[in-house]
Amino acid sequence: MEARVNATAISLVRGDITLEETDAIVNAANTTLSGGSGVDGAIHSSGGPLISAECRKIGSCPTGHAVITSGGSLKARHVIHTVGPVYKDGEHGEPSMLRSAYLSSLTLALEKNLRSVAFPSISTGAYGYPVEEASKIAVSTVIGFIKQNNGLDLVRFVLFSDRDLEVYSRALKGAL
Ligand code: ADP
Repeated sequence: MEARVNATAISLVRGDITLEETDAIVNAANTTLSGGSGVDGAIHSSGGPLISAECRKIGSCPTGHAVITSGGSLKARHVIHTVGPVYKDGEHGEPSMLRSAYLSSLTLALEKNLRSVAFPSISTGAYGYPVEEASKIAVSTVIGFIKQNNGLDLVRFVLFSDRDLEVYSRALKGAL
């Protein structure tokens, strides 16, 4: 699914984010930036040791913030590592922390003059955020950012399952 907000295209695809050719891909990292399971593990293993070395130098990243490294041997030239919240019950600041993870990543992309960014579904794997709720926050945060800021040509969500793609498509339709 594709949509356009001002000069920015929003696209939703099913796929493996490590294969994306956008200027940056976003990693659903953890606060220690030490790699892990899920999309984090996939990005570190496809990107090679350079990404891990840069992460070690940076040290850590608080929940809701983002840091940037090179893309190592990935096609994307950069990886933006952001940390989404661990979901408890939705009453412990999870929505605002998830919004902050998306906003911090988008802000960093603009600061670095990047034109295209691909996101995975942050926090909805090991961190347990229900994908229906998370997708609405993800999509509305991206649309709000694009309405306020010029400079991005493309924001893509790369979903790992048909079901996630369906849920995100519904969220995007509802938000336009
Ligand atoms: P978190 O710890 O933030 O929940 P996970 O990596 O466990 O992060 O899961 C986030 C989402 O990323 C899940 O929907 C998972 O299925 C998905 N995912 C895992 N590997 C990939 C990949 N290679 N490309 C895109 N999405 C992926």
